[in-house]
Amino acid sequence: MARPLEYNATLVERVDLTDALSIFLILPDRLPARPWFAAGQYCVLGLNNMDDTALGSVRRSMSIASPPEDDGPIEFYIRRVARPESKNPLTHLLWSLRPGDRIYLRTVAAGVFARL
Ligand SMILES: Cc1cc2nc3c(=O)[nH]c(=O)nc-3n(C[C@H](O)[C@H](O)[C@H](O)COP(=O)(O)OP(=O)(O)OC[C@H]3O[C@@H](n4cnc5c(N)ncnc54)[C@H](O)[C@@H]3O)c2cc1C
Repeated sequence: MARPLEYNATLVERVDLTDALSIFLILPDRLPARPWFAAGQYCVLGLNNMDDTALGSVRRSMSIASPPEDDGPIEFYIRRVARPESKNPLTHLLWSLRPGDRIYLRTVAAGVFARL
């Protein structure tokens, strides 16, 4: 079982575009000095499963949708996976969050956006 994550960010707002696609605006407690990511990069979001603690925590990569020069919350467009592969899908936990709830956000970006 994955060990519990220490939360370091807050869900500021969730905008539901459809039943299965939402924008999550997440503000880390401490923002790294800008620019800490480049357009097209992703970072990691995570949650502890509090309904079934035996399942522990889950972390998944998510692409950053807000511009690197923005100072405010970081924006993610997230699709809820209806038929997950794991027993502890992050998207199902995300959909139970309300503004003000806490979350884990690894503010280390990775990935290179390939321009074809
Ligand atoms: C670079 C990158 C960027 C992404 N950006 C976005 C985004 O912007 N928006 C978005 O909606 N989704 C994004 N995804 C997909 C996202 O990371 C999740 O796969 C998706 O949200 C579903 O996760 P889930 O836990 O709900 O579903 P699940 O079906 O439970 O898991 C999804 C995937 O996670 C992997 N996985 C399953 N179990 C484990 C495990 N124990 N350990 C590690 N991996 C496991 C498998 O590959 C599985 O297909 C991105 C993925 C990658 C790789």
